[in-house]
Amino acid sequence: MKPLRVLRRVLGLVALRLAPLLIAVPALAHSVPLRVAPPAMVATPAATPVPPTPLPATPTPAPPVPTPALRYALGDAAPYLPILMYHYIREVDPEADPLGFRLSVRPERFAEQLAWLREHGYVGLRMREVAACLRSNNCPRRAVALTFDDGYADNVTAALPLLRRYGFPATFYIVTGFVGREGYMDWADLALLRDSGMELGAHTVSHVDLAALDLEAARYEIHASREALEERLGIEVFSFSYPAGSYTPAVARLIREAGFTSAVTATPGDRLERLDALPRRRVLGGETLEGYRWYFVPPARLGFRGGQNP
Ligand SMILES: [Zn+2]
Repeated sequence: MKPLRVLRRVLGLVALRLAPLLIAVPALAHSVPLRVAPPAMVATPAATPVPPTPLPATPTPAPPVPTPALRYALGDAAPYLPILMYHYIREVDPEADPLGFRLSVRPERFAEQLAWLREHGYVGLRMREVAACLRSNNCPRRAVALTFDDGYADNVTAALPLLRRYGFPATFYIVTGFVGREGYMDWADLALLRDSGMELGAHTVSHVDLAALDLEAARYEIHASREALEERLGIEVFSFSYPAGSYTPAVARLIREAGFTSAVTATPGDRLERLDALPRRRVLGGETLEGYRWYFVPPARLGFRGGQNP
């Protein structure tokens, strides 16, 4: 949790606790200048002193501020909630760019997928909502989280119009150091996502492998990416995505200390065990609608083990 946020929460809490006291204070406030007035004024008993409004008999001291201990470990009862990972929504020639093809879903396919989700009664959740409903164990029965990594330009030109048409929110994890670069969204694009009800999450400043960095450098990547989004867009950022899904227990601790309510990896898994390492299913380029249905069945039930896509 960054100091500013802690301070804000502390001040908010203190203000709440002190509100009843403050109501009683105006009378006191008036008496203060009289006390410090020059002696001549004190000698002239001009005004009958107004008896100060008594303070509450036993002014209860402000209780200690509870440390907002977010719970990250989920019980065994956590339901399976498919969190899908996308990168590009675009046409790519698989022969010319095999890697790009794997990371890209054609706009028509994406539209088909959204139509399928709508037909089957799925509720789209932003990652902030996923964290909240998993924590309180009240997620909708047919929930799905659509997530996009890296902040590619087609997220706003191709994905956003389709998400709006079919009524699904999504979470976009942004590499803040890449914003405005060729092929990436700029700040105006991100503001449009924000204004369209999409969630923006952090994905570091420079898309580094956090597991390979020393902790200070990792801390910078985590905090600076969130601060850039918060300051440039006037939002609060709650969700994080590990670049390439790579993290260590120490990196996950940084995420918890920073107060993110969730962090996602890039590996599939049906066990939602921890909010600081939620598994995701990568939607493969060229995926058929038949294959897409599989993402909604826990991998174990299909006989697949973690680390593999069907
Ligand atoms: Zn990425």
